[in-house]
Amino acid sequence: MRLYDQHLHSKHSFDSKAEPLEVCRNAIENGLAGITFTEHYDTHPTEWPGCVFDYDRIADDHAACRADFGDRLAIGTGVEICYQPDNMPAILDMLESHEFDLVILSVHWFGGKAVHFQESWDRGRIDHTTRHYLETVLDAASLCAELARKNSSPFHVLGHLDFAKRYSYIFWKENHAANCRDVIEEILRTCLEAELIPEINTSPLRRGLTETMPDAWAVRRYRELGGRCMSMGSDAHRPQEVGQNLHIAAGMITSAGLDGLAVFEKGQYHIQPLGD
Ligand SMILES: [Zn+2]
Ligand SMILES: [Zn+2]
Repeated sequence: MRLYDQHLHSKHSFDSKAEPLEVCRNAIENGLAGITFTEHYDTHPTEWPGCVFDYDRIADDHAACRADFGDRLAIGTGVEICYQPDNMPAILDMLESHEFDLVILSVHWFGGKAVHFQESWDRGRIDHTTRHYLETVLDAASLCAELARKNSSPFHVLGHLDFAKRYSYIFWKENHAANCRDVIEEILRTCLEAELIPEINTSPLRRGLTETMPDAWAVRRYRELGGRCMSMGSDAHRPQEVGQNLHIAAGMITSAGLDGLAVFEKGQYHIQPLGD
């Protein structure tokens, strides 16, 4: 089975120290067919000063990775854009002027608050905060649908759809995503309208949760709504995490009856079947 990890980070993200060459070495050891580096691009005023995104340095490093490992591993240059509705013109300009194999749109902030800070949550109403987060994801997908109507598709993949549950679980061992089924389904419908491919992100499995983002029921629902393929990623921040649990994501894609994995190159995808 040819697996591609299309969501991972290296030292070019503020929260990772991983050397890109080391990431490639681990990817080969873990039997992957390809990886795509998707470094953080964070424009919130409190994060922008710490955002280390330097396209030229990243491109140089990827050229070195391809020189050493390109014969054994497909190596893509991607980016994980943090959805910041107030900064969209600048974000779209950046995407327009750089080449990427894959652009992930992820929501980390909702209503001016970061989901990964405990103080952003209303402790008494974890379900309410989860819903507020997911409504922001719906806003992000709706923006992509609006762009698609103007024949513009700068974003290719929707990152970690129900990311809020990772934090409600870390903070309080609670997960209310399944109570927000209606919003999650609306997000999936909007993804189809926007031609935005949702990913299966396996990182919660490293943090004690027993489900991926999104969960298997959402993958099946996506198929019922007309989806054909999804992306997948470990969201690795350390070399040893590359490719972790992607076989679980592959099993979810297959058992939901999807055609396979969407593998991105230069902003286009082909569907990689996931038979044995
Ligand atoms: Zn993210
Ligand atoms: Zn990430």
